[in-house]
Amino acid sequence: MGEDVLGLWSLVKGLRITGAFFFSKQVTVHYPRACVDNLATFRGPIELVPHPEDLSRPLCIACLSCVSNCPTGAISVVKKKTLKPVDAAPDENKTVHKIPKGPAKFTYDYTLCCQCGLCAENCPKRAIRFSGNPYCASINKKDFELDLLEKIRVNMG
Ligand code: SF4
Ligand code: SF4
Repeated sequence: MGEDVLGLWSLVKGLRITGAFFFSKQVTVHYPRACVDNLATFRGPIELVPHPEDLSRPLCIACLSCVSNCPTGAISVVKKKTLKPVDAAPDENKTVHKIPKGPAKFTYDYTLCCQCGLCAENCPKRAIRFSGNPYCASINKKDFELDLLEKIRVNMG
């Protein structure tokens, strides 16, 4: 008898907690029918900031500071080749065609990133930021190896 009363009392206590949450304000959303909107401080995968004068290219000057500051080796950058004057001046006036400094490749492995922010903090051009994307999910690890230059071009498209 004692055990029955104890069991009943435990059931009532559980239902009281369930009832309180059932009628309180909902704090989760029914994804994908709804998305969260309080992402101002959310740290999603990093992304490159586009150049204000040409949104199809990044602000990045390929200084490699983010690569050396990343504690997990999540970033890989290959510098764009700048033309030597002799290659760059095929015309009679010997005009040197300047190529802006920048990356030829900029890849990022989200599976290695610990969201520490050291890359963004140490970038001299403020060319890296955290995206507010909370829905970067996949069952395929390869999907988290991101080409950030391609992402800029896609966003432009
Ligand atoms: S630190 Fe900034 S400018 Fe330098 S390679 Fe990284 S993103 Fe580019
Ligand atoms: S947030 Fe940290 S771990 Fe992630 S890429 Fe930047 S420096 Fe590396």
